[in-house]
Amino acid sequence: MFLWQSPQISDRYKCMPSLKLKYKSPLRQFAVNLGLVILLFISALFTGIHLNNQKTIQQELKSRAQTIFNSIIITRKWNAKHGSVYVEKTPGMVSNPYLQNPDILTTNGKIYTKKNPALMTREISEIAENEGAFQFHITSLKPLNPGNAPDSFEQQALLSFAQGKTEASSKEVRDGITYYRYMAPLFVEKPCLSCHAGQGYRLGDVRGGISIRFNIEEMEQALKLNKVLLALLFTVTLGSFLGIVFHLVVALRKKLAAAEKIIREMAITDELTKLKNRRFLLARLGEELDRATRYRRPLSCIFFDADHFKKVNDTYGHEAGDTVLQTISATALEQCRQTDIVGRYGGEEFFIILPETTLEQADALAERLRQAIENQTIIADKHQIRVTATFGVACYSPSATVAQPEISDFINLADIAMFEAKKAGRNRVGVAA
Ligand code: GH3
Ligand code: MG
Ligand code: MG
Repeated sequence: MFLWQSPQISDRYKCMPSLKLKYKSPLRQFAVNLGLVILLFISALFTGIHLNNQKTIQQELKSRAQTIFNSIIITRKWNAKHGSVYVEKTPGMVSNPYLQNPDILTTNGKIYTKKNPALMTREISEIAENEGAFQFHITSLKPLNPGNAPDSFEQQALLSFAQGKTEASSKEVRDGITYYRYMAPLFVEKPCLSCHAGQGYRLGDVRGGISIRFNIEEMEQALKLNKVLLALLFTVTLGSFLGIVFHLVVALRKKLAAAEKIIREMAITDELTKLKNRRFLLARLGEELDRATRYRRPLSCIFFDADHFKKVNDTYGHEAGDTVLQTISATALEQCRQTDIVGRYGGEEFFIILPETTLEQADALAERLRQAIENQTIIADKHQIRVTATFGVACYSPSATVAQPEISDFINLADIAMFEAKKAGRNRVGVAA
């Protein structure tokens, strides 16, 4: 967009209307804030999903362990309810060394050995482990069988049960395989006292606990994959959202830039003739005067006014008058150079700034333009209209003896020259002395 502004504007013209719309675009800040909000939102969303997944899995694992725990408790209860059970002692079967008189001889000569809850628990655990399903371990801080001594997880759990906790769980890696561990306490019940009363236990005491362990390696691998997929999804989602925001902001920026361009143009353009308006002319003239002084180059201006224009309006109507003003503007633009600045000063008055132009050159241009206007027939509202205009020309030729004029004084010079030409009969060019 063409927006002329001298890099160094004299202080005297600081009061002139600024040609530049100055405001800080809030778009960048908006985009950054929106990006941050999206980042926070998506991070929170995915963290929530991840935590919820973890929670669900933990609940699932615990529920599985609780089911195993309850099954063994029920089985033990059944055993204890019958005061332990006897099974026929087959070859290789070892009697429980921690029981007094574990074996009985029946009248038909068979030997039966006692399987109390602890022994039964251990034996079932061995079967379960061999099946590769799970393993459980009955243990106590004061075990009758030293083989039932707790490991470190069980020791911690048992200590926490003594503090009132009702269960403990943990993950454990053994030989590169991940296991889930769970433990809940065993309370002293009536049938237990038949074997354990000697250890000083009373009804309701925490006598020990049963720990459950099962392989979760496969699930761990699936979880790891799930984490990677979640991270990937997070990245893709975040990227997509930020991409959309970026595109929206870019599109918005383009629209704003286009709107800004229109507003800037409107601020310096005359609505009817599309020439530069008075605001622009005044600001630009100040800068051109400065430039002329700095480089000691001539600067001219032309002020011209359509003659008896009121009569045009009265005769052909206001709309036809508008068309005439538009035609005069187009003619002026045609006659001038690209570097000249043609503007509408107001009403039917026009002003042209001519950089690098001497008085003689400006006079010649004014005369050419006067003739062009005089010789053209304007078709407006089916009427053929002829108009004339009167011109005033002024020039500023900087030198050691000529001071830079004020903007208004320079315009006045041309205006007065035009006024004199009007007085002399109109449709002519007056030159300021
Ligand atoms: P003269 O040129 O004869 O020396 O006198 P003047 O400038 O003082 O007045 P003129 O008779 O030329 O009348 C100026 C008229 O220009 C008054 C107004 O109605 C008309 N005019 C100003 N602006 C516009 C416009 O935008 N459209 C139209 N149609 N007429 C306008
Ligand atoms: Mg006038
Ligand atoms: Mg006039």
